[in-house]
Amino acid sequence: MAPTRVWTPSRVLITRSASELPHTEEIIRRCEAAGVSDIEVLSGDRLTGLRGETERQTYALAKKTLAVVVAPASALKPQPIPPSADWRIDLAKGCPAHCQYCYLAGSLSGPPITRVYANIDDVLAGIGTHAGRGTITTGTAERGHEGTTFELSCYTDPLGIEHVTGSLSEAIARVGAGTYGDEVSLRFTTKFDDVTDLLTIDHGRRTRVRLSVNADDIANRFEGGTARMPARVEALRRLAVAGYRVGLTIAPIMPIPGWRDQYGRLLADVAEALRDVPDLDLTAEIITHRFTPSSKDVLLSWYPGTKLEMDEDSRTAKRNKFGGVKYVYPRETMSEMRTWFVDELESLLPQAQLLYWT
Ligand code: SF4
Repeated sequence: MAPTRVWTPSRVLITRSASELPHTEEIIRRCEAAGVSDIEVLSGDRLTGLRGETERQTYALAKKTLAVVVAPASALKPQPIPPSADWRIDLAKGCPAHCQYCYLAGSLSGPPITRVYANIDDVLAGIGTHAGRGTITTGTAERGHEGTTFELSCYTDPLGIEHVTGSLSEAIARVGAGTYGDEVSLRFTTKFDDVTDLLTIDHGRRTRVRLSVNADDIANRFEGGTARMPARVEALRRLAVAGYRVGLTIAPIMPIPGWRDQYGRLLADVAEALRDVPDLDLTAEIITHRFTPSSKDVLLSWYPGTKLEMDEDSRTAKRNKFGGVKYVYPRETMSEMRTWFVDELESLLPQAQLLYWT
């Protein structure tokens, strides 16, 4: 098994306002324990010095930087996040990994540093104010039993930064203890495998952890700085054994040469890992690869030598109601992959509830 992959920032910047909050003490404690020596409390709330001399240097510096900031009021209001969950809650924005198709490329601006929110009470308060509300999963026949759902991984990989932040454990423990009521649940997806600290939290089965998985050729080539696939599958098993509800985020799927064999092996490995887990509650979410003109631009600036296929001519353009365009696989390819995945899931992982395909 490949060693557990943990990210340790080279420098930590703490804004003045964040330095006054108790969660920051925990973040500093964790960073010091991880061996970070460059921890700086800024004299104000503006983050400066984030750029290097070239785009490359800016990217490299950003991916080594953890900023501890106070989430502004505008970031505290939970937003609907279909099809995943009723609401989105952000513990942090940014991610230290190096996925060449990164979902954040189209949504975050500026150097890709990771900002963790020090005002965790304010961030999590949204769970209390929005419990019992929601129209995405609440009230549906398939998922109504999950209570009001809150997605934690829209703008970060919360497990990837957990050992230097502690925010995820705090959220899981509070929701497990019923701090925000009994009818709420958390969900997040991750490409990391360092789950040991999560196993002993009294989670009350109110958190669903999905491991983001993919064909080996895709993960090995495009998902830099993340845990290797066998380690993620093992993490999934350990979480399920510890009573967590679990899931697979199979994403982004791509019709690479030999895709049926590669994804078939992946699903067989997952089935084997979960074979004897008691009370298994397993879901699957399947997302095909797509890109937008702006995400392509950002990704090419971050990864100029990437071999990731982002060729508009071999894709179908889909327009949304705001005039934006995204490039997806042509209808025939989509339907071929969809049929294969649905059949294969049914035969190899019949326990898995398929939540959506997109
Ligand atoms: S783990 Fe997710 S958020 Fe992080 S770089 Fe990869 S795709 Fe982006």
